[in-house]
Amino acid sequence: MLNLNSDKIDFVNKCENSLKDIFKEIDDMELINSKKVLDAFHKFNLNENDLNGTTGYGYNDIGRDKIESIFSDIFKAEDALVRREFACASHALSISLSALLRHGNVLLSITGLPYDTMHEVIGIKENNSSLISYGVKYEQIDLVNNDFDYEKVSKSLENVNLVYIQRSRGYSLRDSINIEKIEKVIKLIKDINKEIIIFVDNCYTEFVENKFPTEVGADIIVGSLIKNLGGGISTNGAYVAGKKDLIKLISERLYLPGEGKEVGPSINANRMFLMGLYLAPSVVASSLKSSILFSKVFEELGYLVNPKFNEKRSDIVEVIYLKNEENLINFCKTMQQSGPINSEVTPIPGDMPGYNNKIIMASPSFTTGSSIELSADAPLKDPYALFIQGGLSYSYAKLTLINILSNM
Ligand SMILES: *Cc1c(COP(=O)(O)O)cnc(C)c1O
Repeated sequence: MLNLNSDKIDFVNKCENSLKDIFKEIDDMELINSKKVLDAFHKFNLNENDLNGTTGYGYNDIGRDKIESIFSDIFKAEDALVRREFACASHALSISLSALLRHGNVLLSITGLPYDTMHEVIGIKENNSSLISYGVKYEQIDLVNNDFDYEKVSKSLENVNLVYIQRSRGYSLRDSINIEKIEKVIKLIKDINKEIIIFVDNCYTEFVENKFPTEVGADIIVGSLIKNLGGGISTNGAYVAGKKDLIKLISERLYLPGEGKEVGPSINANRMFLMGLYLAPSVVASSLKSSILFSKVFEELGYLVNPKFNEKRSDIVEVIYLKNEENLINFCKTMQQSGPINSEVTPIPGDMPGYNNKIIMASPSFTTGSSIELSADAPLKDPYALFIQGGLSYSYAKLTLINILSNM
């Protein structure tokens, strides 16, 4: 049962009242994105039969092919793969990098150390199946003051085949990278060598801003369907979009050379991908409002937060510095208790494959690990930063927040 203290209700309502103008901007963005989705549905004459999938090899899967046209249209990309065979975005990132890089090629990350699951994929942490083990070379340029090191990037491009950009922060404490910065750095790189593949990990950023990296020169973008574009409906999967020839290479690595995109039965995925995409503009808007409310409330309570309620956002993630371990654990426990599923489960800090510190997580979700649903996680270490994201509906997030404050 939720424990909603009336003082806390008043306090949260007061904070919420000061957010009206910001929430209006989010509503405006939701409208723009909803129109993009609906226009694409109409352009490709989506009909009821498209919701049914194929079995077996998956030849002539009209619904699957329309979904990929719709995603491409929304991204303004030449082509896309939207597939249930991608277990998650990390898998899609891994397959895509393996498809695009050959022995002797150089992969340059210009947003510092990539997301944790990429360490063994690339070979930053040793692994016998890593890109490095297959002869790919890895180089890295760190961000400076939350922006690209443009000077250093421009001087480091010789021999580089693929530039890797990660927009959201992962478990680091930097800001997310907005579309203007992406546009600026891509222009810089393409002016020096237009052959370099610009590869963007787009996780958590979809429908937050009004443009996709593919509209400002990115060659490949990758994202998860248990995050923004799954709209809380998709139960797994990921997308990859971009240049047609590169999508062909990636499809031949995911499936097999010679068949590529032609195979891959959608089985029962078409309906969930379409309904998820349909709801995504609204769900992303709810997630953003939820993050902003958490940000405002915890700032008022004297905690450091990032981003602040009134800062421009390019992803749905909010970080709250909770000062100590006890706060972290209490916060996660109450968030778990406030959720729809597994509310009786008590989160305890534990070891996770691929992570160095013990991690505590609250994820009371319909889809395991789904982080477009309201969820939080934190490594148990100074500065006790908690990462919050998601919120299928703003009301549920607001109730969760009041419950957390009432139990703190
Ligand atoms: C979540 C995330 C991933 C991985 O996505 P999964 O679908 O969980 O595998 C990769 N990169 C970033 C920046 C992320 O936030």
